[in-house]
Amino acid sequence: MNSKKPIRQICVYCASSKKIDEKYLLDADALAASFLDNDITLVFGGGSVGLMGRLADRMLESGGRVIGIMPQFMKDVEWAHKGVNDIEFVKDMHERKKRFLDGTDALVALPGGCGTLEELLEAITLKRLGLFVKPIIIVNLDGFYNPLIQMLERCVEERFMAQEHLKMWNVVSSSKEVLTAIYQASDWDEGAIKFAAV
Ligand code: AMP
Repeated sequence: MNSKKPIRQICVYCASSKKIDEKYLLDADALAASFLDNDITLVFGGGSVGLMGRLADRMLESGGRVIGIMPQFMKDVEWAHKGVNDIEFVKDMHERKKRFLDGTDALVALPGGCGTLEELLEAITLKRLGLFVKPIIIVNLDGFYNPLIQMLERCVEERFMAQEHLKMWNVVSSSKEVLTAIYQASDWDEGAIKFAAV
């Protein structure tokens, strides 16, 4: 690891589905283990199911620190993880996404559905505008994210985005590589708005 400031808190975007392959759950276990080993606080959507629930369960059963951020309407349908004591209920999905990024040292996207993809693309967009400058790590387990990565690269090839924008995210092939990737990520500048337009 290098001399960058230590990572204390990481926001993870991930799936709510319960029907996914076991390999995704095992990879979430590896992410929890690396957070626990490095005393890192997990910030997540506060859900009890799918990859979200698995990650929170693994953290909590070993005494890890977990912050859940959930819109009130999800609490009303009892989606909140019962074991997360530091859970914050917010007005809506927009406020939740904003809160995910406040104070986080990095962002990690595990595989997920439209919710995860939307959160990831919003974070990349904010980074392009210089409104979010922390590392964004995409966990491309078994090539899950290949189509999205190809799409983003095509945006650059066809000059919808600039070459510099390729530095906004880093791709790893499993969660074991996440922390190293965060420490090695290129610095990003709050002045990115100056080169946001192509
Ligand atoms: P997805 O990647 O499409 O599964 O979406 C993840 C996002 O949807 C997260 O922001 C979740 O909070 C939300 N979500 C969808 N279904 C649930 C659920 N059953 N419990 C908790 N959160 C859910």
